[in-house]
Amino acid sequence: MTVPANAPVRAPGGFPVVGVIGGGQLARMMQAPAIALGVQLSVLAEAVDASAALVVPSAPVGDHADLEAVCRFAAACDVVTFDHEHVPADVLAALVSAGVMLQPSPEALVFAQDKLAMRRKLTELGVPCPEWVVAQTAEEASGFAARVGFPFMAKTPRGGYDGKGVQVVRQLSDLEAWLGAAATQVQAGTGALRDGILLEEMVPFVRELAVLVARSPSGQAAAWPVVQTIQTDGICTDVCAPAPGLDPEVAAAATRTALQIAGELGVTGVLAVEMFDLGVPPKGAGGDHPAYLVNELAMRPHNSGHWTIDGAVTSQFEQHLRAVLDLPLGDPRPHAAWTVMANVLGGDYPELYPAYRHVMARDPGVKVHMYGKGVRPGRKLGHVNVSGSSLEDCQARARHAADYLRGIIDE
Ligand code: ADP
Repeated sequence: MTVPANAPVRAPGGFPVVGVIGGGQLARMMQAPAIALGVQLSVLAEAVDASAALVVPSAPVGDHADLEAVCRFAAACDVVTFDHEHVPADVLAALVSAGVMLQPSPEALVFAQDKLAMRRKLTELGVPCPEWVVAQTAEEASGFAARVGFPFMAKTPRGGYDGKGVQVVRQLSDLEAWLGAAATQVQAGTGALRDGILLEEMVPFVRELAVLVARSPSGQAAAWPVVQTIQTDGICTDVCAPAPGLDPEVAAAATRTALQIAGELGVTGVLAVEMFDLGVPPKGAGGDHPAYLVNELAMRPHNSGHWTIDGAVTSQFEQHLRAVLDLPLGDPRPHAAWTVMANVLGGDYPELYPAYRHVMARDPGVKVHMYGKGVRPGRKLGHVNVSGSSLEDCQARARHAADYLRGIIDE
């Protein structure tokens, strides 16, 4: 039998092939559970040395916006899911017309691709969100400023990630360049700002939370404990599972909100709901003062769930595969009282291996996960997980390992 190079080879026994568009670290981390589950993974990779292409034998190279490449790739898969949310709407529509089973569906995915569509939908569902408007002109922006005051946040509705596409507006002139770009794009009807700029009040949050849930096409859902995420310069650097000191009632309400969003939007696979924890209500706030507001959604495994690989009975990567295949979901409960995840960011030293050996020798309890990516300052190269019964101990050990691997400490 001859098969095209890099096409997925089917395993005997009727086991399916799951296609992942995008060959980043999320697709890479699906490979270990795919092996255990006995399903074949195939990834449409950006390059032969993309993170997932280094570990998945079936990794044809192609652009996620190239209709022909994506359709050819999808034709060999039983279900297709995503490593990122950048596949254009026309490509998604063509896949659906060709009979490809997309999980999540384009109808759900749009709320992770477009922050404006997400804000409109969540507001309609009564989900607590920051105050927001869409602005195309200086007058609209100044009307919003009069309502919420300075500073406020400006966001590009599409294509932002890791804080790129988000700006603090301290005075209207900070928005000049964005409003100029929006005017051109609104007129042309194309570009990330074609509907305008998303403006949001500056939320006085005490910390950031994430609620990770999974939902299958038949509607079964499972939720992991609510976690705290710590961002540094717009990048998630640390995650504590569960969120320390979170009122159990608030945790339960936040989980209900995430499950409601998954159900109402018809999400399949993993859904991450990023939230702002507002802390105790300010004096004089009414009884309806929300404890949290929803920031944004991701419909794929998410950085806030990397702790689950070592810290939960079922990892987010296994759960995503089970969910998109409509298999019964796995147990999301944690193994330990605490798991702390710290991202390994690139430092100034291209040779990571000596530091990696040191981290392993110093603390055999640290679980290291590397993504096979070249070192660039600030780039997410991997993460470490530490589980245990003391939060402080887990935090100190995870941070030490991540800082050592980055090269910012030498003991
Ligand atoms: P991205 O899609 O790039 O991750 P986000 O919308 O999550 O962008 O914003 C990145 C970070 O900016 C958030 O994690 C949060 O720290 C901060 N941020 C975003 N929106 C607001 C807001 N309305 N008020 C206060 N801080 C915000």
